[in-house]
Amino acid sequence: MVKWLSNLIDSNERAVKRLQPLVDHINSLEPEFEKLSDAELRAKTDEFKARLQDGESLDEILPEAYAAVREAAKRTIKQRHFDVQLIGGVVLHQGKIAEMKTGEGKTLVATLPLYLNALTGQGCHLVTVNDYLAKRDCQWMGPIYHALGVSLTAITAMQTPDNPFPSYIYDPDRDSEDPKWKHLHHIPYPPNQPQAARRQAYEADITYGTNNEFGFDYLRDNMVWDLSQCVQRPLTYAIVDEVDNILIDEARTPLIISGAAEEATQKYYTFAQLVSHLGKDEDYTIDERTHSASLTDTGMTKMEKALKHEGLLKAPELYDPSNYFLTQYLDSALKAHALFRRDKDYVVKDGQVIIVDEFTGRLMFGRRYSEGLHQAIEAKERVKIQRESVTMATITFQNYFRMYQKLAGMTGTAATEAEELYKIYKLDVVGIPTNKPLIRTEYPDQIYKDEKTKFAAVTREIKELNDQKRPVLIGTTSIEKSELLSDLLKRNGIPHQVLNAKNHEKEAAIIAQAGRLGAVTVATNMAGRGVDIILGGNPEERDAAEWQEEHNKVVELGGLHIVGTEHHEARRVDNQLRGRAGRQGDPGSSRFYASLDDEIIRRFGGDRIQGVMQWAGMDENTPIEHSIATRAMTNSQVKTEGYHFDIRKHLVEYDDVVNKHREVIYDDRKKVLSGADLKANILSMVQDEIKSVVAKHLSNVSHEREEGEKSNLSGLLEDISAIFPVPPQFRSNGLSELSAQQITEKLTDYANELYNQREQELGPDNMRIAERMVMLRVIDRLWMEHLTAMDHLRQGIGLHAVGQQEPLVVYKREGHAYFEALLASIQHDVAHNIYHVGITKEAPQKKKEAVPVGKRVGRNDPCPCGSGKKYKHCCGK
Ligand code: ADP
Ligand code: MG
Repeated sequence: MVKWLSNLIDSNERAVKRLQPLVDHINSLEPEFEKLSDAELRAKTDEFKARLQDGESLDEILPEAYAAVREAAKRTIKQRHFDVQLIGGVVLHQGKIAEMKTGEGKTLVATLPLYLNALTGQGCHLVTVNDYLAKRDCQWMGPIYHALGVSLTAITAMQTPDNPFPSYIYDPDRDSEDPKWKHLHHIPYPPNQPQAARRQAYEADITYGTNNEFGFDYLRDNMVWDLSQCVQRPLTYAIVDEVDNILIDEARTPLIISGAAEEATQKYYTFAQLVSHLGKDEDYTIDERTHSASLTDTGMTKMEKALKHEGLLKAPELYDPSNYFLTQYLDSALKAHALFRRDKDYVVKDGQVIIVDEFTGRLMFGRRYSEGLHQAIEAKERVKIQRESVTMATITFQNYFRMYQKLAGMTGTAATEAEELYKIYKLDVVGIPTNKPLIRTEYPDQIYKDEKTKFAAVTREIKELNDQKRPVLIGTTSIEKSELLSDLLKRNGIPHQVLNAKNHEKEAAIIAQAGRLGAVTVATNMAGRGVDIILGGNPEERDAAEWQEEHNKVVELGGLHIVGTEHHEARRVDNQLRGRAGRQGDPGSSRFYASLDDEIIRRFGGDRIQGVMQWAGMDENTPIEHSIATRAMTNSQVKTEGYHFDIRKHLVEYDDVVNKHREVIYDDRKKVLSGADLKANILSMVQDEIKSVVAKHLSNVSHEREEGEKSNLSGLLEDISAIFPVPPQFRSNGLSELSAQQITEKLTDYANELYNQREQELGPDNMRIAERMVMLRVIDRLWMEHLTAMDHLRQGIGLHAVGQQEPLVVYKREGHAYFEALLASIQHDVAHNIYHVGITKEAPQKKKEAVPVGKRVGRNDPCPCGSGKKYKHCCGK
């Protein structure tokens, strides 16, 4: 392990060294580029594009392109890319992860490869962790791209229903209505076509947006009924900022677009009520490690009795198969009761249960726990139960980002997750040296006996530093803990700010001032991520001399001090917090506190650390500061990281199965939309369907039919008439002399004839529309059913160990069978629908909006598939 690590470091150094000649080359071009007029600099873009056309490669153009971007940055935002930033820029162009510490200026680094790759004209994406940063970075870096004549847009999530696809274009030549985003303009769109703005955003050379927005646009593009409503171009190059957060933390839950389904909500309330009487240890036990709860025998007996009383039991034993329906409710109710805590795992706001992201403390609006858990929590909190959803489209971030031709990422903290990033995304991590040496002091952990003494110590330290006016930033693991600490600080008369990652924009403004004299800022782990903390505060709109004086004072005091109130499950998140101090060679320090009550210690390392404490003879209030304890903590984190990696790996392995299906179906869908010859296709489906009907009824190929087979023949015609009306001449004995094959041929000929006849009646154009509608309707409805079925299959396999077999193997095998059945059903349904379509003379209206993100489709709402029918009469049937 250690050897592997040192090899890694060596190879990292080598990788960085290898790039030095390239940096020298870019630097040598500087005098030449400085001489260019603004117009000449701008003209470089066209020159590069022409050279690409003439066969030069991006790698050949790179030195000049980077020199051009650096020159543009100097002239516009007055920042000159440092040499290490050029190295970072090359690493990003190579499709790798550039690990650059917080404050090293990754926003600026990304301009280099984005510009270079945008020269191909194919559109590059920069992926941010929130909408605020998408807009901020677009506006901030905008002048550089503008000087080079490169178009730039930002996309954000829906805020109000009147514009489901907010899209902005950067244009410094006019002022926008919003003074905060002076040069970001809403892209206008024609009435009822909001997606037109989004499409225009994707036409730009470079687009900034969040992972969610890019992913949802992809899914929505695969739900449209007309190609003109697609918004994305092929996915060519993306740089993911804070890549560990997006590709690892966020990647634990897939993106889902869903609609509402029918279900019995009353049962959730009943079960919530019943389990609320159960007591921990007596009636149920909790396994902290797997985060699961199960009933004890006592609990089971109690529940059986209660359910019997409610008249719900179909068989006396609760786990009897006939009670299967109930156990689902029971499992989720028990989970909700025993494992999920209000204000830690979720909050209740405006009568809704909203998930709290465990890493950031951020509220995840619109996301729901799956498998009925969300409903169970709603029942527990006695709020209205939102209906269970039907999955209309879903993809994991892993599979979304793997579709880019080239993917790159940047973050301050990736090394600890290098293995995962490589295994899942084939992304190498290259550590880039800092521009100036890092001089942050990292104090050893202090471990207390319990949470109370720990927080008392944290408060003491804050008080001490605050008395000197040294700025302190405190990280917590949840909103609950932030509030607890905030109370303590209030009681001690320490003025402070609390951030819970609820409003990114407001919090950015606060965190930007966390380095001011006397500032005390309490934040959940990743609140304000991506926002720069300058010692002495943000110098913008301040008197320069006054700012300088404050800056110097803070530097003298030792810079920003970071307090971690609890170790996070992942070392990476701890490092992220530490990295807030000591930016760009600033002085700074950090310390983490821990207690035996902390989850990370309880989970894996509790006994050992307790042992160390006893061994060291520590009492209540004296902490231990010992390397053994710290090591035990790290071990515990490594184990937890491994555990989570396994979960994510699992998610991907399972999603890979569906992903193959998704590729086939989305591909077929695209073909349907792009005007493929559906007639031939559909007729061959009809023929196959006729064949299978004939085969079902006539196994005997002989000409001489027994008396009994007459009835087979009429059964056959019965089945055929479900496909198309069978003419009388077939019924009156016309077929009895023929072989099965001849019957098939005769029926097929008639089917073709009838088809052409219909085509004449309707006109070829209408027939083409009818073909498309039938295909899409059938594919979409069955695909949704398939997704739901696959979901159930997975849950079923997860619940019951299947003999001695590997669950994934079973899932793959069964999944394959489901998929075959899906294809067969598509054929069946298309054949059975195509002769029944009635066409109104006018071409069907294509007014259709993709499903608003995170919003569910009501049963009476127009169906998002665009049929114009109510959802309940269409895809929601
Ligand atoms: P990161 O994303 O790596 O944490 P940011 O992109 O937020 O860092 O930049 C941190 C700070 O460094 C910002 O204030 C930015 O203006 C400044 N900065 C970055 N690069 C340079 C540069 N080459 N010259 C001067 N300042 C820079
Ligand atoms: Mg950043």
